[in-house]
Amino acid sequence: MKAVSINSVRDAQIIELPMPICRGNYALIQILAAPMCTEVSEWINGMPTTVLGHEAAGEIVEAPAFSRFRKGDRVVVMPQNGCGSCDLCLAGEHIRCQSQRDPLKETGSLTGRATFAQYCIQQDWLLFPVPQDIPVIHASMACCGLGPTFNAVRQMNVMPGDWLLISGLGAVGLGGVINGVLNGARVIGLETNPWRANLAMKLGAEAVIDPKSPTALEEVLSLTDGRGADKAIEASSASMAPAFLLETTRINGQITTVGWGGPVNAGDVLRRGITLRGAWHWNHLRDGGAMRSTLRRAADLLDTFITHTFALTDVEEAWALQESAQCGKVVLLPWDDA
Ligand SMILES: [Zn+2]
Ligand SMILES: [Zn+2]
Repeated sequence: MKAVSINSVRDAQIIELPMPICRGNYALIQILAAPMCTEVSEWINGMPTTVLGHEAAGEIVEAPAFSRFRKGDRVVVMPQNGCGSCDLCLAGEHIRCQSQRDPLKETGSLTGRATFAQYCIQQDWLLFPVPQDIPVIHASMACCGLGPTFNAVRQMNVMPGDWLLISGLGAVGLGGVINGVLNGARVIGLETNPWRANLAMKLGAEAVIDPKSPTALEEVLSLTDGRGADKAIEASSASMAPAFLLETTRINGQITTVGWGGPVNAGDVLRRGITLRGAWHWNHLRDGGAMRSTLRRAADLLDTFITHTFALTDVEEAWALQESAQCGKVVLLPWDDA
């Protein structure tokens, strides 16, 4: 099968790798859409690897004997490799499982963990079924595109009329605009990049404010009747973001972080009475029906959100585009030009 390999700084190529082997409760999946995420930093830094990508949707090629899946079923591949038997995995919180499995060791396969490839393997309980009426490229947004912020809006019970502040309008934050809009929220984005601010407005944000502007705090307060946003999502990982959100989210409001950076001052959380949570992924066992409904209702917005698709062979062009930040979600199609 074909897969992407990084050789050195900004140097990648397509290579032939052996097909993955599926055994036990692993299924073999033909990857039809592989959304691009943080791998661009590995290309920029030139870390040699062939294990690239953690988001995928595709079609079952081979399923375990007693699986609910059959050949040809369409699925989204959940990230990580939870054990499947601890309390967290059984509750659908496999992303936080402390006994992650090693699919290569268990199957004897040399490949199958990467999604910038034509095939991968995953345990069948970590595959999310996709009905025929949802295009597979839309379904692939049930990874990082919509997933973390889908969980965030559910955790905070975002509802019609809520002011929802979203810090950082990269591919994850833009997905948050969609999740907020679908729940009836009035979305305010915080973003320095005008291209992405413009895309957020197309997705239904009411305003986008440059958080580095000296008047940013006043602008958020004046939009929200002086109180601040009801709820906020931190998706920027910028060091200044948590402090800014703690001042622009209303007293007794809620903040969920889907970003991985920035210090939080416990005193500010206390003084403002904020409920602070973290959403890494979403719960496919508990919230599958709601996700399918989101994917259907978001169909037109997803076509705006997914600004570019590339064949696997054009992966470097795709990464250069991601580096330019003039894009929404970018998706690799491993069978285009194959
Ligand atoms: Zn587990
Ligand atoms: Zn991702």
